[in-house]
Amino acid sequence: MLEGKIALVTGAGRGIGRETALTLARYGADVAVNYSGSREGAQNTAAEIQAMGRRALVVHADVTKEADCTAMFHEVEDALGKIDILVNNAGITRDSLAVRMSEEAFDAVLDTNLKGTFFCMKLAAASMIKKRSGRIISVSSISGVRGNAGQMNYCAAKAGVIGMTKCLARELAARGVTVNAVAPGYIDTDMTAALPERAKQEILSQIPLKRMGSARDVAEAIAFLASDGAGYITGQTLLVDGGMGI
Ligand code: NDP
Repeated sequence: MLEGKIALVTGAGRGIGRETALTLARYGADVAVNYSGSREGAQNTAAEIQAMGRRALVVHADVTKEADCTAMFHEVEDALGKIDILVNNAGITRDSLAVRMSEEAFDAVLDTNLKGTFFCMKLAAASMIKKRSGRIISVSSISGVRGNAGQMNYCAAKAGVIGMTKCLARELAARGVTVNAVAPGYIDTDMTAALPERAKQEILSQIPLKRMGSARDVAEAIAFLASDGAGYITGQTLLVDGGMGI
């Protein structure tokens, strides 16, 4: 499905990003594996991709820094030749009720989830416009679609990702580049592992499919949006949420 394609996945050392990198490779893509913290996770992801017979490149960048993002795009294009698929996955949470939320917590979440996605979208757009093809897929959240108490910063950032997706989809449509988002619901990763048991049970009771999602559930949706089969879909947000958003 993705033979000959080259993908860049941000935050691919663990969680949804890691599973996305592996899934894209399983479908035939070569993958640049970005990390910002520990290199070890990214190296493990890359080793698994190489074991499938695909090329993998481990690349450091803190997506909150434009210079890091620019250097990352150059490094990937120099080493792998081009970028056909960008997956904006890097994200953080800093939850608290709005009345207690600090400016620092607000800015940190906006900087990573929204501004980081903006930097990478801009860089990918510049090179994909020249090639007249490409796929940009960003990881939003059910929180950005319907809001969630305790996540004013995160809801703003993830709703913003959907807005940027619609904007860029319109700007790039004539150049053969599609721009979409996925909005995961409650997915079993480090991000949700820290939630108290009562909060987990409360969320589970709101999921029609009666289970947490897996990183693989999200990765498969991303792989579909990256495929030729999704060529007539742009500006959309695909909910991968077990029905939470119905
Ligand atoms: P994890 O906490 O498991 O992983 C987060 C990833 O983001 C890590 O790989 C981390 O890299 C990376 N990251 C964080 N900050 C930066 C940065 N400044 N620059 C580059 N990479 C960074 O979370 P998930 O896998 O659960 O989340 C992945 C995405 O999915 C996020 O955008 C999240 O908001 C979204 N999402 C998750 C849901 C869930 O239920 N889990 C639900 C809805 C959306 P490193 O380790 O190198 O810092």
